[in-house]
Amino acid sequence: MVRYKYKIKGIVQGVGFRPFVYKLAYQFNLIGNVLNDSDGVTIELQGTAKNIELFDEELLNSLPPLAHIDSFEKHPISLKNETTFEIIQTNNSSTKTTLVSPDIKVCNDCLNDIKNKEKYHNYFNTNCTNCGPRYSIIKTLPYDRVNTSMSDFTLCDSCQKEYEDPTNRRYHAQPISCKECGPQLTLSIKNKVVNSNDEIFSKTANLLQEGKIGAIKGMGGFHIVCDATNDDTITKLRAYKNRPAKPFAIMCKDLEQIQAIGDINDKEEKLLISKEAPIVVLNKLQNSNISDLIAPNITKIGCFLPYTPIHYLLFEHLDTPIVATSANMGGEPIIIAKEEIETKLPFIDFILDFNRDIINAIDDSVVQVIDNKVQTLRLSRGYAPKVIKLPFKIDKKILCVGANNKSSITIAFEDTLILSAHIGDLDNIKAFEYFTRTIETFKRFYDFTPDIIVHDLHPNYETTLWAKQQNIKLISVQHHLAHIYSVKAEHNLQKKEYIGFSFDGTGYGLDETLWGGEVFINDKRGYHFKPMKLLGGEKAIKEPRRVAMALLFENYTLEEIMRFNLPVTKTFSQIELNLLYQSYEKNINSFDTTSVGRLFDAVTSFCNLSQILSYEGESGLLLESYYDETITTTFKWNITNDIIEIKIVEFILHNTYDTKLLASMLINTLSQIIVELSSKINFDVILSGGVFQNKTLLQKVLVDLKANNKKYHINEKTPPSDGGVSLGQAYYQINN
Ligand SMILES: [Zn+2]
Ligand SMILES: [Zn+2]
Repeated sequence: MVRYKYKIKGIVQGVGFRPFVYKLAYQFNLIGNVLNDSDGVTIELQGTAKNIELFDEELLNSLPPLAHIDSFEKHPISLKNETTFEIIQTNNSSTKTTLVSPDIKVCNDCLNDIKNKEKYHNYFNTNCTNCGPRYSIIKTLPYDRVNTSMSDFTLCDSCQKEYEDPTNRRYHAQPISCKECGPQLTLSIKNKVVNSNDEIFSKTANLLQEGKIGAIKGMGGFHIVCDATNDDTITKLRAYKNRPAKPFAIMCKDLEQIQAIGDINDKEEKLLISKEAPIVVLNKLQNSNISDLIAPNITKIGCFLPYTPIHYLLFEHLDTPIVATSANMGGEPIIIAKEEIETKLPFIDFILDFNRDIINAIDDSVVQVIDNKVQTLRLSRGYAPKVIKLPFKIDKKILCVGANNKSSITIAFEDTLILSAHIGDLDNIKAFEYFTRTIETFKRFYDFTPDIIVHDLHPNYETTLWAKQQNIKLISVQHHLAHIYSVKAEHNLQKKEYIGFSFDGTGYGLDETLWGGEVFINDKRGYHFKPMKLLGGEKAIKEPRRVAMALLFENYTLEEIMRFNLPVTKTFSQIELNLLYQSYEKNINSFDTTSVGRLFDAVTSFCNLSQILSYEGESGLLLESYYDETITTTFKWNITNDIIEIKIVEFILHNTYDTKLLASMLINTLSQIIVELSSKINFDVILSGGVFQNKTLLQKVLVDLKANNKKYHINEKTPPSDGGVSLGQAYYQINN
């Protein structure tokens, strides 16, 4: 006989870990106990050496679906006089470093209960230790019912029994409830509750089929929903939301329905049906039954599958896909309360709500597959908070506040980095409140008080201004270097040597101009794109025509330009053109930028695809849809004094505005530049920044790098966009 003490860390609380250990102990005839403590789970196990070996093997090979082990320690202790194996209940209120599980899609066992078990029949809040809400309902740790928004609901006898039975799937499942004791669902039409019984889902389905626009409470907030095949309804929705073209995500009944809309490969299928259930960006099929207004003029479509029982129960009565977009107004965070839907979105015809609060708002995650790799575009439900483990420990506690748009925060302590969910664009007050709330939540969850705050170099980012008010040691990190370091953090690349391409929108550079087309060699800016002028400042980021004009002004006078008779000049009045030219000549209200994102804008303007953008990233998506892989030509480009210049204007004026050709040439040229520069150096390649969200460009670059035997690293589980900047700030600070 032998006895061992185990210390197990990771996501091991609130995920059915103790009953799992209990079951295994019985299976292998072992005695001892298991308990939750502040670091994770501690087990004492006594039995024959052979049986303990079998226990270990089974433990590591068949973990509960939501459990994740970060470290596993085991050492022998002396034998004790016991006869049973027990789960010891503890009151663990000391330090809190156990990790929070993200929210997870309803499991098949629970779906089965919803169909076949009287107790849970059609019950929307059915869940168990293997599924359901987590992060979104937790107020503080440890993860016990009293610390969640389920604390308002007292368990009935039947639920209590399940909760206390170690052999039950709902043993210590904190959010469990049933029709008798749990939250209730209500359907309201224009402020009036009309239905709260079993027909609620068929009624809701009818409203959707009639062309009504509704709001449905999901896991981390409300979705705005409507029939995805109804042009009139979607036209109305776009007008109400003042969202002329930005694509909407589509929720489908099942995989089959998605297959009729988008092209799915094996990897994409796996993502769609995964327990995280993200929105997956797919190549759109021609001639599907969904409205063309869902993703106008682009070849991509974001689809996802139901993930709460509400969605499944609704689709029992519905055969068409639905638009399911985060309920919010213009860049604000996702709405979590019915009252806010009523005041902010008065156009909503009906609301499907339930009376359990969402504590931590969380959007849907967005991912895509590139070159058989998963790329996370928005890190949120199912994936966040995202934990990254370091192979060493740090002695300081670091808070990193990220960039300004697509904001996120990262905290670092001991051997742990935790990246928050997507917060949003901090230019509006609601999003900024959400930012400070997220910091407070993380402090509470992880008992965290920062010694150092890391912020972006940009003096006017809301995050920088906030950091400067905190009276804590501050360190700033350059935006595009932070992008590169987000990749290093994800793959734990500690080697100094690398060549990093940080292609982005705009960020504040070390020389106080706006960067966005930087090539770093071992943390030093090795090359960069030729600066161009943003005429009218911020305005130029939304108006590709201003970027195109700036490129023209570099070589020609206004008079000469007028003679070219270009589409772009026709979008301005003569007065506007004169003013624009003056601001170029005299450098009034214009900033220099090296941004590669703006090159996409310029080509979009020259092709007359769009002169004024209606959403961020639109020009990349538009150009991508014209990419033709049979075109292999590039623009002429050269490097003088480490400055890269692509001769776009020269080509356009002497040739054509053929969109297919120009779009393909831009993507080919960028890939060629990356391959040529990296083949001069024997280091690994790192690619990051918002521009690499462009699926076609990244796909092309990766194929070309592979053909040249270059080793490369990209963001996979963390965003390449500004959503990853806080993580990069943390990893940079830790390694410098
Ligand atoms: Zn379940
Ligand atoms: Zn109950």
